Amino acid sequence: MSVESLFPRLEPLLPAVQKPIQYVGGELNSSVKDWDGAQVRWALMYPDAYEVGQPNQGVQILYEILNEREGVLAERTYSVWPDLEALMREHGIPQFTVDAHRPVGAFDVLGISFSTELGYTNMLTALDLAGIPLQAADRTEDHPIVLAGGHAAFNPEPIADFLDAAVLGDGEEIVLAITELIREWKDEGRPGGRDELLMRLARSGGVYIPRFYDVTYLPDGRIQRVAPNRPGVPWRVAKHTVMDLDQWPYPKKPLVPLAETVHERFSVEIFRGCTRGCRFCQAGMITRPVRERSITTIGDMVDTGLKESGFQEVGLLSLSSADHSEIGDIAKGLADRYEGTNTSLSLPSTRVDAFNITLANEFSRGGRRSGLTFAPEGGSERMRKVINKMVSEDDLIRTVTTAYENGWRQVKLYFMCGLPTEEDEDVLAIADMARRVIRAGREATGRRDIRCTVSIGGFVPKPHTPFQWAAQCDHETVDRRLRALKDTLRRDKEYGRAIGLRYHDGEPSIIEGLLSRGDRRVGKVIQAVWEDGGRFDGWSEFFSFARWQTCADKALEGVGLAWYTVRERDEVEVLPWDHLDAGLDREWLWQDWQDAIDETEVEDCRWTPCYDCGVCPTMDTEIQIGPTGKKLLPLTVV
Ligand code: SF4
Repeated sequence: MSVESLFPRLEPLLPAVQKPIQYVGGELNSSVKDWDGAQVRWALMYPDAYEVGQPNQGVQILYEILNEREGVLAERTYSVWPDLEALMREHGIPQFTVDAHRPVGAFDVLGISFSTELGYTNMLTALDLAGIPLQAADRTEDHPIVLAGGHAAFNPEPIADFLDAAVLGDGEEIVLAITELIREWKDEGRPGGRDELLMRLARSGGVYIPRFYDVTYLPDGRIQRVAPNRPGVPWRVAKHTVMDLDQWPYPKKPLVPLAETVHERFSVEIFRGCTRGCRFCQAGMITRPVRERSITTIGDMVDTGLKESGFQEVGLLSLSSADHSEIGDIAKGLADRYEGTNTSLSLPSTRVDAFNITLANEFSRGGRRSGLTFAPEGGSERMRKVINKMVSEDDLIRTVTTAYENGWRQVKLYFMCGLPTEEDEDVLAIADMARRVIRAGREATGRRDIRCTVSIGGFVPKPHTPFQWAAQCDHETVDRRLRALKDTLRRDKEYGRAIGLRYHDGEPSIIEGLLSRGDRRVGKVIQAVWEDGGRFDGWSEFFSFARWQTCADKALEGVGLAWYTVRERDEVEVLPWDHLDAGLDREWLWQDWQDAIDETEVEDCRWTPCYDCGVCPTMDTEIQIGPTGKKLLPLTVV
């Protein structure tokens, strides 16, 4: 049955809302396929506003992979701003896709990519607007399968009641496998209804179906057991890992936004995974092992992507891009190729060493030297040992001195506050480091206009990291430490004015902590917050700590906000995500947590012997790094 576009009903409402262009669709490289010609139809959602969600690489890659397939259709949907939400409710317009403005409720799958847990209330808005029951148990065969992916899906328990399914890890191969399972089931005449389809997905071993697992609790509130509640469902569900990135050179046709977005460039992921072992970093842990994309594929992707999109900036993405074994040749090859054109290159600079400056010099050949960002993460040497960020203050000073000598005037430093074992003096040490940076810059250049911006984020312990057992620092302590740091810098007559300080208060981190390490009981809190008007919790103008606190107090019995956040867990406690397998050995994670407390560091296993985190043997693979010895060929720029 054909599905009509909602645009004729939506269009008259758009003049009355903010940024109406974000709902219009039709971007360069977007795709509208024939509804009736498709057997399987995906609505892909990034649960935030268009300006944040549109550039998301994960959604763009899956959108393209699915649409390339015969008989498969994928469209995108984003969170609508509260002004349009109100009008849609008033006029009875359901959640729509931006591509063909089709109702999300008519698709086979609603796949939602969660980079952060603060998008959970936005998911509920979309489900409700789409006419999909919030509780998965209330859905029928007529409703889409609601499936979560992205990093937050490594612990989907707080939203388990709202989900039909979750997928861990890389999406490229598994979306196609799921598509085939749905196609077969539909071809067979939908035997056994929705339940049978979910059972087939669960039995495949690659999709987590929360309703097929029962959670029991101990009298003190901890989890007693998570167990499958029917035969054929695996005890543990493993993550997906694409081993050969060269076989998946997406996006080939990047979507070019119509409205202003947070990134407007063509991004190429140059490798996945990270083995540096920063203990706070969930992305680094859950994306192991390291898999590099080859220099030649990167070169081809940049060429194709720029031609297809018209973007004038290329970003080389990964968790630590300077670590690619051929990054020097990639940087030089691309800088040579695009020299004299209007194409600029960028590399998120996070590694604190002089090599980064060489790269930055390549990337800014002939261009403006704006700012360089480094992430020491911890203010004191002791703190950096705890988090395994192996950077000494002398390394940092050497690096920034080279940067200032090479013409940079502005350096940004990123830190976290509230890290495990942190004391007041660890945070005050950030001021000492920033002062040394300014002093080094002034000495290296003989100038007074040297600047250093310090940005500080609140630390949130994340599942599948060594800090998953840690007590989160309470927000009052975080706020007090940050205030003390600010006062120290303000009182400093010599250097204070050259140092900018940016930070947020600690309350949102506590809620992110609740949603990150929560279990199924937290779903009631999310729903209560949403019913009370909670939307766009990642936006400071919408976030309300008081609302979350009140709803948590009402919805949680026997346990509370503090129980989920500032409580340290012991080794034997069953964690809500223990049945979800990120490939990491639990015993190794615990040992690494003990090493953190002892301030003992571990090396990067890319260049030193394996320390048995468990990932490679679990996947029957090994770290894949170059060098390939190949070079980028200069292309004739047209
Ligand atoms: S198994 Fe060994 S080599 Fe593989 S990622 Fe873990 S520590 Fe590194």
